[in-house]
Amino acid sequence: MTDFSENFSNDFIINHLGEDRSTYLNSGAPPVFQSSMFAFPHLDAMREALRHESSQPFYSRGTNPNLQMLGRKLAALEGGEECLLFASGSAAIAAAVCSFVRQGDHVVCVEKPYSWTGKLLTQWLARFGVETTFVDGSPDSVERAFRPGTRVLYLETPNSLTFEIQDIKALTQLARSKGVVTIVDNSYATPIFQKPLALGADISIHSASKYLSGHSDVVGGALICSAEHKERIFAGEFMTLGGIMSPMSAWLILRGLRTLEIRLKKSHENGLAVARFLEQHPSVDQVFYPWLENHAGYEIARKQMTGAGGLLSVRFKSQDESKISAFANHLQYFLLACSWGSYESLCFPQAALCDSANYQSARVDPSIFRLYCGLDDAENLIADLDRAIFLSSI
Ligand SMILES: *Cc1c(COP(=O)(O)O)cnc(C)c1O
Repeated sequence: MTDFSENFSNDFIINHLGEDRSTYLNSGAPPVFQSSMFAFPHLDAMREALRHESSQPFYSRGTNPNLQMLGRKLAALEGGEECLLFASGSAAIAAAVCSFVRQGDHVVCVEKPYSWTGKLLTQWLARFGVETTFVDGSPDSVERAFRPGTRVLYLETPNSLTFEIQDIKALTQLARSKGVVTIVDNSYATPIFQKPLALGADISIHSASKYLSGHSDVVGGALICSAEHKERIFAGEFMTLGGIMSPMSAWLILRGLRTLEIRLKKSHENGLAVARFLEQHPSVDQVFYPWLENHAGYEIARKQMTGAGGLLSVRFKSQDESKISAFANHLQYFLLACSWGSYESLCFPQAALCDSANYQSARVDPSIFRLYCGLDDAENLIADLDRAIFLSSI
């Protein structure tokens, strides 16, 4: 068994850390430990395993060998001590936020977070007397929003539609000075492109349904933090709410992880090429992508991230409903679908969220399309967009 006692490189973590082949008949790939519980040779061993239920297989709501292996790798990739795995990214987010708040407490959250994170804060937690203030994410806005009952600063940098960037280092320093913990949704960047814990955050969260698994075949979530936070969340939200990851999902995410670096590199190249193509196109009003020099958060992005991946948005000049529909319908490489982070390229038209009879009154901007550039060739993606723009005359 490899020992976690130094800073390993990403490739070592992904390919070797936590693999213990001698315990599973030297099988190259790990088996799926599809078992709900584990048996012990005598009472002492059982008692010992129960005492360490968060880290030793006992009952699979606690942990399981597939989850141990994946958790070990994700914690190491993020530079954190421990990882808890959940049935979805949303389950990880809910467990993390809920673990720090009680009735009367206050959360400061960056505006336009992932939609279900917003609902957790404004609807679900509000029922239990927890209030949230949404801020633009500048240090000033965060400082002004803090009050004596503030417990959590919730960041999502970049967010997943227009990719506003927050300065993790500056904001976590501010939060720490007020005794506030910082939670960062790191799904967009992954630990390959951004390490929030190293920049001062207390908790880093992922939707593993996106890049980490990378093949559109699993929904899962991960929460990376210190051993202290892990034990508290394990004994609280994790075991009581029980929104756990299955052994098969952990196995699939582990398999996806083997190619994480190479997939991200390709996605980033594609994302940048597509962003540059759209940026100069006369039909385009604005491109949202953190790696473009004119992006509002570009300077901070370059400081705290090492890449941006394949997710970007484009706003066309036209608001014409029939042109917007025609553009979406003419795409061939880009599938019309939600999610992102896998091999296939995807398009999420904001118009899908609008009542088509009444575009103008909608709260979303129907001329924005979110594009995810997967592992297709950049030339084909650009040709697909060019063709759909031409045919729709958007
Ligand atoms: C998808 C997503 C989530 C939620 O993750 P699920 O696995 O779908 O529950 C949270 N944050 C961001 C940024 C996401 O894109």
